[in-house]
Amino acid sequence: MKDLWDRASNTLRDRVGSNNHTAWIAPLDLTGIDSGEAQIVTPTRFISDWVQRHYADAIRDALIEVGAPIARLNFRVAAARRAAAAPRKQAAAPVAAPRAVEPEMSAPLDARFTFENFVVGKPNELAHAAARRVAEGGPVTFNPLFLYGGVGLGKTHLMHAIASDIRTRRPEARVLYLSAEQFMYRFVQALRERTVMDFKEMFRTVEVLMVDDVQFIAGKESTQEEFFHTFNALVDQGKQIVISADRAPGEIKDLEDRIKSRLQCGLVVDLHPTDYELRLGILQSKTDAFRAQYAGLCIEPGVLEFLAHRITSNVRVLEGALQRLFAFASLVGRKIDMDLTQDCLADILRSSDRKLSIEDIQRKVAEHYNIKLADLVGQKRVRTIARPRQVAMYLAKQMTTRSLPEIGRRFGGRDHTTIMHGVRKIEELCTEDHGMAEDVQLLRRALEA
Ligand code: ADP
Ligand code: MG
Repeated sequence: MKDLWDRASNTLRDRVGSNNHTAWIAPLDLTGIDSGEAQIVTPTRFISDWVQRHYADAIRDALIEVGAPIARLNFRVAAARRAAAAPRKQAAAPVAAPRAVEPEMSAPLDARFTFENFVVGKPNELAHAAARRVAEGGPVTFNPLFLYGGVGLGKTHLMHAIASDIRTRRPEARVLYLSAEQFMYRFVQALRERTVMDFKEMFRTVEVLMVDDVQFIAGKESTQEEFFHTFNALVDQGKQIVISADRAPGEIKDLEDRIKSRLQCGLVVDLHPTDYELRLGILQSKTDAFRAQYAGLCIEPGVLEFLAHRITSNVRVLEGALQRLFAFASLVGRKIDMDLTQDCLADILRSSDRKLSIEDIQRKVAEHYNIKLADLVGQKRVRTIARPRQVAMYLAKQMTTRSLPEIGRRFGGRDHTTIMHGVRKIEELCTEDHGMAEDVQLLRRALEA
Protein backbone atom coordinates (compact mmCIF):
# COMPACT_ATOMS: atom_id res chain seq x y z
CA MET A 1 0.00 0.00 0.00
CA LYS A 2 2.76 2.35 1.04
CA ASP A 3 4.71 1.66 -2.09
CA LEU A 4 1.67 2.22 -4.29
CA TRP A 5 0.94 5.49 -2.60
CA ASP A 6 4.54 6.67 -2.78
CA ARG A 7 4.59 6.11 -6.50
CA ALA A 8 1.24 7.80 -7.03
CA SER A 9 2.34 10.64 -4.85
CA ASN A 10 5.48 11.14 -6.94
CA THR A 11 3.47 11.22 -10.13
CA LEU A 12 1.20 13.79 -8.55
CA ARG A 13 4.11 16.02 -7.64
CA ASP A 14 4.89 16.54 -11.32
CA ARG A 15 1.29 17.21 -12.05
CA VAL A 16 0.30 19.65 -9.31
CA GLY A 17 3.63 21.32 -8.61
CA SER A 18 5.71 20.90 -5.54
CA ASN A 19 4.07 23.58 -3.40
CA ASN A 20 0.62 22.16 -3.91
CA HIS A 21 2.06 18.76 -3.37
CA THR A 22 3.52 19.71 -0.02
CA ALA A 23 0.35 21.45 1.03
CA TRP A 24 -2.28 18.99 -0.12
CA ILE A 25 -0.93 15.65 -1.29
CA ALA A 26 1.86 14.92 1.17
CA PRO A 27 -0.50 14.98 4.19
CA LEU A 28 -2.64 12.22 2.67
CA ASP A 29 -2.36 8.50 3.23
CA LEU A 30 -3.66 5.51 1.32
CA THR A 31 -4.78 2.97 3.93
CA GLY A 32 -6.38 0.33 1.76
CA ILE A 33 -8.43 -0.62 -1.27
CA ASP A 34 -11.97 -1.92 -0.78
CA SER A 35 -13.76 -3.39 -3.78
CA GLY A 36 -12.38 -0.81 -6.19
CA GLU A 37 -12.47 2.07 -3.70
CA ALA A 38 -9.23 3.67 -2.57
CA GLN A 39 -9.39 4.56 1.13
CA ILE A 40 -7.67 7.85 1.66
CA VAL A 41 -7.13 9.36 5.09
CA THR A 42 -6.69 13.08 5.54
CA PRO A 43 -5.48 14.85 8.68
CA THR A 44 -8.24 17.44 8.78
CA ARG A 45 -11.71 18.11 7.48
CA PHE A 46 -10.54 21.14 5.62
CA ILE A 47 -7.83 19.33 3.73
CA SER A 48 -10.30 16.60 2.91
CA ASP A 49 -12.79 19.06 1.41
CA TRP A 50 -10.14 20.91 -0.47
CA VAL A 51 -8.52 17.83 -1.93
CA GLN A 52 -11.84 16.37 -2.98
CA ARG A 53 -12.74 19.53 -4.72
CA HIS A 54 -9.42 20.16 -6.44
CA TYR A 55 -7.42 17.00 -6.71
CA ALA A 56 -9.78 14.01 -6.68
CA ASP A 57 -9.46 13.29 -10.40
CA ALA A 58 -5.72 13.75 -10.41
CA ILE A 59 -5.33 11.38 -7.48
CA ARG A 60 -7.54 8.75 -9.05
CA ASP A 61 -5.70 8.93 -12.35
CA ALA A 62 -2.33 8.74 -10.64
CA LEU A 63 -3.35 5.68 -8.65
CA ILE A 64 -4.65 3.95 -11.76
CA GLU A 65 -1.47 4.79 -13.63
CA VAL A 66 0.73 3.16 -11.02
CA GLY A 67 -1.43 0.03 -11.22
CA ALA A 68 -3.85 0.35 -8.33
CA PRO A 69 -7.06 -1.59 -9.08
CA ILE A 70 -9.43 1.24 -8.24
CA ALA A 71 -12.36 3.09 -9.74
CA ARG A 72 -13.31 5.47 -6.96
CA LEU A 73 -11.89 7.31 -3.97
CA ASN A 74 -13.22 7.45 -0.45
CA PHE A 75 -11.97 10.16 1.92
CA ARG A 76 -11.92 9.85 5.67
CA VAL A 77 -10.64 12.30 8.29
CA ALA A 78 -8.17 10.67 10.68
CA ALA A 79 -9.91 9.95 13.97
CA ALA A 80 -7.14 11.18 16.22
CA ARG A 81 -6.96 14.45 14.38
CA ARG A 82 -10.67 14.93 14.60
CA ALA A 83 -10.51 14.70 18.36
CA ALA A 84 -7.46 16.92 18.52
CA ALA A 85 -9.09 19.52 16.35
CA ALA A 86 -11.86 20.07 18.89
CA PRO A 87 -10.14 20.89 22.16
CA ARG A 88 -13.11 22.84 23.53
CA LYS A 89 -13.75 22.37 27.19
CA GLN A 90 -17.44 21.54 27.51
CA ALA A 91 -18.82 18.64 25.60
CA ALA A 92 -21.89 20.75 24.93
CA ALA A 93 -19.93 23.40 23.09
CA PRO A 94 -20.23 23.01 19.34
CA VAL A 95 -17.11 21.94 17.53
CA ALA A 96 -15.36 25.12 16.47
CA ALA A 97 -16.02 25.99 12.87
CA PRO A 98 -12.89 27.21 11.06
CA ARG A 99 -14.14 30.79 11.21
CA ALA A 100 -14.14 30.79 15.00
CA VAL A 101 -10.41 30.29 14.96
CA GLU A 102 -9.77 33.60 13.30
CA PRO A 103 -10.09 36.04 16.19
CA GLU A 104 -7.48 34.07 18.13
CA MET A 105 -5.13 34.01 15.25
CA SER A 106 -5.44 37.53 13.93
CA ALA A 107 -3.90 40.27 16.00
CA PRO A 108 -6.38 42.87 17.28
CA LEU A 109 -6.89 45.91 15.11
CA ASP A 110 -6.47 49.46 16.32
CA ALA A 111 -9.82 51.15 15.72
CA ARG A 112 -8.14 54.49 15.02
CA PHE A 113 -6.12 53.08 12.13
CA THR A 114 -8.64 53.58 9.35
CA PHE A 115 -8.47 55.05 5.87
CA GLU A 116 -10.56 58.00 7.05
CA ASN A 117 -7.92 58.86 9.62
CA PHE A 118 -5.02 58.48 7.25
CA VAL A 119 -3.75 61.76 5.87
CA VAL A 120 -2.53 61.43 2.31
CA GLY A 121 0.38 63.44 0.98
CA LYS A 122 3.07 63.07 -1.65
CA PRO A 123 5.29 60.79 0.43
CA ASN A 124 2.58 58.18 0.97
CA GLU A 125 0.10 58.57 -1.85
CA LEU A 126 1.15 55.50 -3.79
CA ALA A 127 1.14 53.32 -0.69
CA HIS A 128 -2.29 54.64 0.19
CA ALA A 129 -3.66 54.01 -3.30
CA ALA A 130 -2.29 50.49 -3.36
CA ALA A 131 -3.77 49.77 0.08
CA ARG A 132 -7.17 51.05 -1.06
CA ARG A 133 -6.94 48.90 -4.13
CA VAL A 134 -6.31 45.80 -2.03
CA ALA A 135 -9.19 46.62 0.31
CA GLU A 136 -11.60 46.91 -2.62
CA GLY A 137 -11.10 43.25 -3.41
CA GLY A 138 -11.86 41.82 -6.81
CA PRO A 139 -9.23 40.15 -8.94
CA VAL A 140 -5.78 40.20 -7.44
CA THR A 141 -3.68 42.40 -9.68
CA PHE A 142 -0.44 42.51 -7.76
CA ASN A 143 0.75 40.01 -5.25
CA PRO A 144 2.14 40.63 -2.76
CA LEU A 145 1.74 44.25 -1.94
CA PHE A 146 5.01 45.05 -0.22
CA LEU A 147 4.99 48.24 1.86
CA TYR A 148 8.22 49.50 3.24
CA GLY A 149 9.63 52.56 4.96
CA GLY A 150 11.12 53.84 8.19
CA VAL A 151 9.49 53.67 11.62
CA GLY A 152 6.32 55.57 12.26
CA LEU A 153 5.51 56.34 8.65
CA GLY A 154 2.16 54.56 8.63
CA LYS A 155 2.77 50.98 7.50
CA THR A 156 0.86 49.41 10.35
CA HIS A 157 -1.83 52.06 10.07
CA LEU A 158 -2.41 51.18 6.41
CA MET A 159 -2.49 47.46 7.06
CA HIS A 160 -5.05 47.84 9.82
CA ALA A 161 -7.04 50.12 7.55
CA ILE A 162 -7.12 47.44 4.87
CA ALA A 163 -8.30 44.85 7.36
CA SER A 164 -11.02 47.04 8.90
CA ASP A 165 -12.24 48.15 5.53
CA ILE A 166 -12.57 44.60 4.27
CA ARG A 167 -14.24 43.44 7.46
CA THR A 168 -16.83 46.20 7.20
CA ARG A 169 -17.57 45.62 3.57
CA ARG A 170 -17.42 41.86 3.50
CA PRO A 171 -17.74 40.45 7.00
CA GLU A 172 -17.54 36.91 5.65
CA ALA A 173 -14.09 37.43 4.16
CA ARG A 174 -11.30 35.98 6.24
CA VAL A 175 -8.61 38.55 6.79
CA LEU A 176 -5.63 37.62 8.86
CA TYR A 177 -3.34 40.33 10.16
CA LEU A 178 -0.35 39.56 12.32
CA SER A 179 3.19 40.64 12.91
CA ALA A 180 6.01 38.50 11.62
CA GLU A 181 6.96 37.99 15.24
CA GLN A 182 3.55 36.54 15.99
CA PHE A 183 3.77 34.41 12.88
CA MET A 184 7.03 33.02 14.13
CA TYR A 185 5.75 32.51 17.64
CA ARG A 186 2.71 30.61 16.41
CA PHE A 187 4.83 28.49 14.18
CA VAL A 188 7.25 27.55 16.93
CA GLN A 189 4.32 26.78 19.19
CA ALA A 190 2.78 24.57 16.52
CA LEU A 191 6.05 22.71 16.15
CA ARG A 192 6.22 22.14 19.87
CA GLU A 193 2.63 21.04 20.18
CA ARG A 194 2.79 19.03 16.98
CA THR A 195 -0.06 20.96 15.40
CA VAL A 196 1.80 22.13 12.34
CA MET A 197 -0.94 20.82 10.09
CA ASP A 198 -3.53 22.97 11.81
CA PHE A 199 -1.20 25.90 11.63
CA LYS A 200 -0.73 25.54 7.91
CA GLU A 201 -4.38 24.98 7.35
CA MET A 202 -5.30 28.10 9.22
CA PHE A 203 -3.22 30.26 6.96
CA ARG A 204 -4.25 28.55 3.83
CA THR A 205 -7.90 29.23 4.38
CA VAL A 206 -7.59 32.98 4.55
CA GLU A 207 -8.51 35.34 1.75
CA VAL A 208 -6.12 38.10 2.68
CA LEU A 209 -3.00 37.54 4.71
CA MET A 210 -1.09 40.49 6.13
CA VAL A 211 2.26 40.11 7.82
CA ASP A 212 3.73 43.19 9.43
CA ASP A 213 7.45 43.86 9.97
CA VAL A 214 8.65 40.91 7.99
CA GLN A 215 12.31 41.89 8.49
CA PHE A 216 11.85 40.17 11.81
CA ILE A 217 12.00 36.68 10.33
CA ALA A 218 15.25 37.33 8.49
CA GLY A 219 17.81 34.83 9.66
CA LYS A 220 15.21 32.54 11.25
CA GLU A 221 15.47 29.64 8.87
CA SER A 222 12.61 27.34 9.68
CA THR A 223 10.18 30.23 10.03
CA GLN A 224 11.30 31.57 6.69
CA GLU A 225 10.74 28.18 5.18
CA GLU A 226 7.21 27.96 6.52
CA PHE A 227 6.47 31.52 5.59
CA PHE A 228 7.63 30.83 2.06
CA HIS A 229 5.39 27.79 1.69
CA THR A 230 2.39 29.56 3.10
CA PHE A 231 3.13 32.48 0.85
CA ASN A 232 3.37 30.33 -2.26
CA ALA A 233 0.30 28.33 -1.45
CA LEU A 234 -1.71 31.51 -1.01
CA VAL A 235 -0.37 33.11 -4.17
CA ASP A 236 -1.14 29.96 -6.14
CA GLN A 237 -4.70 30.16 -4.89
CA GLY A 238 -5.00 33.77 -5.95
CA LYS A 239 -5.18 35.07 -2.37
CA GLN A 240 -4.00 38.56 -1.62
CA ILE A 241 -0.94 39.05 0.54
CA VAL A 242 0.25 42.28 2.10
CA ILE A 243 3.67 42.51 3.67
CA SER A 244 5.46 45.32 5.42
CA ALA A 245 9.08 45.81 6.34
CA ASP A 246 11.39 48.58 7.38
CA ARG A 247 13.35 48.30 4.13
CA ALA A 248 13.07 47.02 0.56
CA PRO A 249 13.05 43.24 0.03
CA GLY A 250 16.49 43.28 -1.56
CA GLU A 251 17.98 45.05 1.44
CA ILE A 252 16.77 42.70 4.13
CA LYS A 253 19.83 40.84 5.33
CA ASP A 254 19.67 37.11 5.91
CA LEU A 255 16.55 36.71 3.87
CA GLU A 256 16.79 33.88 1.38
CA ASP A 257 17.14 34.97 -2.23
CA ARG A 258 14.14 33.01 -3.41
CA ILE A 259 12.00 34.78 -0.83
CA LYS A 260 13.40 38.15 -1.83
CA SER A 261 12.65 37.55 -5.46
CA ARG A 262 9.21 36.26 -4.65
CA LEU A 263 8.51 39.38 -2.61
CA GLN A 264 9.68 41.55 -5.46
CA CYS A 265 7.22 39.94 -7.85
CA GLY A 266 4.32 41.98 -6.64
CA LEU A 267 4.05 45.68 -6.11
CA VAL A 268 6.80 47.14 -3.98
CA VAL A 269 5.85 50.53 -2.58
CA ASP A 270 7.95 52.80 -0.52
CA LEU A 271 6.60 55.16 2.17
CA HIS A 272 8.87 58.19 1.98
CA PRO A 273 9.85 60.26 4.98
CA THR A 274 7.19 62.85 5.69
CA ASP A 275 7.50 66.32 4.22
CA TYR A 276 6.40 69.55 5.83
CA GLU A 277 2.97 69.59 4.14
CA LEU A 278 2.15 66.07 5.21
CA ARG A 279 3.23 66.72 8.78
CA LEU A 280 1.11 69.82 8.93
CA GLY A 281 -1.84 67.94 7.44
CA ILE A 282 -1.49 65.21 10.04
CA LEU A 283 -1.23 67.75 12.85
CA GLN A 284 -4.35 69.51 11.65
CA SER A 285 -6.32 66.33 11.42
CA LYS A 286 -5.21 65.18 14.89
CA THR A 287 -5.94 68.61 16.32
CA ASP A 288 -9.52 68.32 15.10
CA ALA A 289 -9.80 65.03 16.93
CA PHE A 290 -8.27 66.45 20.13
CA ARG A 291 -10.49 69.51 20.04
CA ALA A 292 -13.50 67.27 20.42
CA GLN A 293 -11.86 65.57 23.37
CA TYR A 294 -10.63 68.72 25.10
CA ALA A 295 -13.52 71.07 24.53
CA GLY A 296 -12.76 74.75 24.88
CA LEU A 297 -9.01 74.49 24.35
CA CYS A 298 -7.66 77.03 22.00
CA ILE A 299 -4.56 76.70 19.90
CA GLU A 300 -2.77 79.77 18.61
CA PRO A 301 -1.93 80.18 14.95
CA GLY A 302 1.63 79.24 14.15
CA VAL A 303 1.97 76.45 16.71
CA LEU A 304 1.19 73.62 14.33
CA GLU A 305 3.46 75.09 11.67
CA PHE A 306 6.22 75.34 14.24
CA LEU A 307 5.80 71.69 15.21
CA ALA A 308 5.67 70.54 11.60
CA HIS A 309 8.94 72.33 11.04
CA ARG A 310 10.74 71.15 14.09
CA ILE A 311 9.62 67.58 14.64
CA THR A 312 10.66 65.72 11.54
CA SER A 313 11.59 62.32 12.91
CA ASN A 314 8.37 60.40 12.55
CA VAL A 315 4.63 60.66 12.83
CA ARG A 316 4.47 58.82 16.12
CA VAL A 317 6.63 61.46 17.81
CA LEU A 318 4.60 64.21 16.21
CA GLU A 319 1.38 62.72 17.53
CA GLY A 320 2.84 62.22 20.97
CA ALA A 321 3.91 65.84 21.09
CA LEU A 322 0.45 67.09 20.20
CA GLN A 323 -1.19 64.77 22.68
CA ARG A 324 1.05 66.01 25.43
CA LEU A 325 0.43 69.59 24.50
CA PHE A 326 -3.33 69.20 24.78
CA ALA A 327 -3.15 67.26 28.02
CA PHE A 328 -0.81 69.81 29.56
CA ALA A 329 -2.81 72.83 28.42
CA SER A 330 -6.04 71.42 29.75
CA LEU A 331 -4.36 70.59 33.06
CA VAL A 332 -3.02 74.08 33.63
CA GLY A 333 -5.96 75.75 31.93
CA ARG A 334 -3.94 77.75 29.44
CA LYS A 335 -4.24 78.26 25.74
CA ILE A 336 -1.74 76.53 23.52
CA ASP A 337 0.69 79.20 22.39
CA MET A 338 4.38 79.23 21.56
CA ASP A 339 5.44 79.71 25.17
CA LEU A 340 3.49 76.76 26.42
CA THR A 341 4.75 74.69 23.50
CA GLN A 342 8.39 75.48 24.24
CA ASP A 343 7.92 74.65 27.93
CA CYS A 344 5.95 71.54 27.50
CA LEU A 345 7.93 70.00 24.65
CA ALA A 346 11.43 71.11 25.60
CA ASP A 347 12.80 67.58 25.63
CA ILE A 348 11.32 66.56 22.29
CA LEU A 349 12.42 69.78 20.66
CA ARG A 350 15.90 69.38 22.04
CA SER A 351 16.29 65.84 20.86
CA SER A 352 15.08 66.67 17.38
CA ASP A 353 17.55 69.50 17.54
CA ARG A 354 20.39 67.07 18.04
CA LYS A 355 22.68 67.83 15.16
CA LEU A 356 23.81 65.18 12.84
CA SER A 357 27.57 65.45 12.76
CA ILE A 358 29.75 65.30 9.69
CA GLU A 359 31.50 62.39 11.26
CA ASP A 360 28.21 60.46 11.58
CA ILE A 361 27.73 60.95 7.88
CA GLN A 362 31.26 59.90 6.99
CA ARG A 363 30.99 56.79 9.10
CA LYS A 364 27.71 55.76 7.54
CA VAL A 365 28.91 56.39 4.02
CA ALA A 366 32.15 54.46 4.57
CA GLU A 367 30.17 51.58 5.98
CA HIS A 368 27.71 51.68 3.11
CA TYR A 369 30.42 51.50 0.45
CA ASN A 370 32.52 49.19 2.52
CA ILE A 371 35.64 51.37 2.58
CA LYS A 372 37.78 52.62 5.45
CA LEU A 373 36.88 55.86 7.16
CA ALA A 374 40.53 56.93 6.85
CA ASP A 375 40.36 56.43 3.08
CA LEU A 376 37.11 58.33 2.84
CA VAL A 377 38.70 61.46 4.28
CA GLY A 378 42.17 60.67 2.84
CA GLN A 379 43.84 61.57 -0.42
CA LYS A 380 43.32 58.50 -2.63
CA ARG A 381 41.83 59.33 -5.99
CA VAL A 382 40.53 55.98 -7.23
CA ARG A 383 36.91 56.15 -8.24
CA THR A 384 35.78 53.53 -5.69
CA ILE A 385 36.87 55.89 -2.93
CA ALA A 386 36.55 59.32 -4.53
CA ARG A 387 32.89 58.82 -5.41
CA PRO A 388 31.77 57.78 -1.92
CA ARG A 389 33.78 60.75 -0.62
CA GLN A 390 31.71 63.05 -2.81
CA VAL A 391 28.54 61.40 -1.61
CA ALA A 392 29.58 62.13 1.96
CA MET A 393 30.34 65.76 1.03
CA TYR A 394 26.96 66.07 -0.60
CA LEU A 395 25.14 64.66 2.43
CA ALA A 396 27.14 66.84 4.79
CA LYS A 397 26.06 69.89 2.84
CA GLN A 398 22.44 68.77 2.61
CA MET A 399 21.92 67.42 6.07
CA THR A 400 23.91 69.72 8.32
CA THR A 401 24.11 73.47 8.66
CA ARG A 402 27.91 73.50 8.27
CA SER A 403 29.47 75.82 5.76
CA LEU A 404 31.56 74.61 2.83
CA PRO A 405 34.90 75.61 4.41
CA GLU A 406 33.90 73.84 7.62
CA ILE A 407 33.02 70.71 5.68
CA GLY A 408 36.30 71.03 3.81
CA ARG A 409 38.22 70.99 7.07
CA ARG A 410 36.51 67.77 8.15
CA PHE A 411 37.43 66.15 4.85
CA GLY A 412 41.16 66.17 5.43
CA GLY A 413 41.54 69.94 5.02
CA ARG A 414 40.13 70.28 1.54
CA ASP A 415 39.35 73.58 -0.08
CA HIS A 416 35.72 74.73 -0.14
CA THR A 417 35.71 74.66 -3.96
CA THR A 418 36.52 70.95 -3.86
CA ILE A 419 33.52 70.40 -1.63
CA MET A 420 31.33 72.44 -3.91
CA HIS A 421 32.52 70.46 -6.89
CA GLY A 422 31.73 67.20 -5.08
CA VAL A 423 28.25 68.38 -4.13
CA ARG A 424 27.49 69.42 -7.71
CA LYS A 425 28.81 66.17 -9.09
CA ILE A 426 26.49 64.10 -6.91
CA GLU A 427 23.52 66.34 -7.67
CA GLU A 428 24.19 65.74 -11.33
CA LEU A 429 24.63 62.01 -10.94
CA CYS A 430 21.43 61.72 -8.95
CA THR A 431 19.41 62.92 -11.90
CA GLU A 432 20.99 60.64 -14.47
CA ASP A 433 22.02 57.58 -12.52
CA HIS A 434 19.25 55.68 -10.83
CA GLY A 435 21.65 53.65 -8.72
CA MET A 436 23.26 56.78 -7.34
CA ALA A 437 19.91 58.38 -6.54
CA GLU A 438 18.95 55.24 -4.69
CA ASP A 439 22.20 55.12 -2.71
CA VAL A 440 21.80 58.71 -1.62
CA GLN A 441 18.18 58.22 -0.68
CA LEU A 442 19.06 55.12 1.32
CA LEU A 443 21.87 56.81 3.17
CA ARG A 444 19.76 59.82 3.91
CA ARG A 445 17.07 57.64 5.36
CA ALA A 446 19.52 55.71 7.48
CA LEU A 447 20.97 58.95 8.81
CA GLU A 448 17.58 60.39 9.58
CA ALA A 449 16.51 57.34 11.54
P1 ADP B 1 4.90 52.14 11.14
O1 ADP B 1 4.11 50.87 11.22
O2 ADP B 1 5.27 52.50 9.74
O3 ADP B 1 6.08 52.15 12.05
P2 ADP B 1 2.50 53.29 12.22
O4 ADP B 1 1.53 52.85 11.18
O5 ADP B 1 2.48 52.56 13.50
O6 ADP B 1 3.98 53.33 11.64
O7 ADP B 1 2.27 54.85 12.48
C1 ADP B 1 2.72 55.51 13.64
C2 ADP B 1 1.66 56.48 14.10
O8 ADP B 1 1.56 57.54 13.17
C3 ADP B 1 0.29 55.88 14.19
O9 ADP B 1 -0.38 56.38 15.30
C4 ADP B 1 -0.40 56.33 12.92
O10 ADP B 1 -1.78 56.47 13.10
C5 ADP B 1 0.26 57.65 12.65
N1 ADP B 1 0.34 57.96 11.22
C6 ADP B 1 1.35 57.63 10.38
N2 ADP B 1 1.12 58.10 9.15
C7 ADP B 1 -0.06 58.74 9.21
C8 ADP B 1 -0.86 59.46 8.25
N3 ADP B 1 -0.48 59.59 6.97
N4 ADP B 1 -2.02 60.01 8.67
C9 ADP B 1 -2.40 59.89 9.95
N5 ADP B 1 -1.72 59.24 10.90
C10 ADP B 1 -0.55 58.67 10.54
MG1 MG C 1 4.48 49.15 12.30
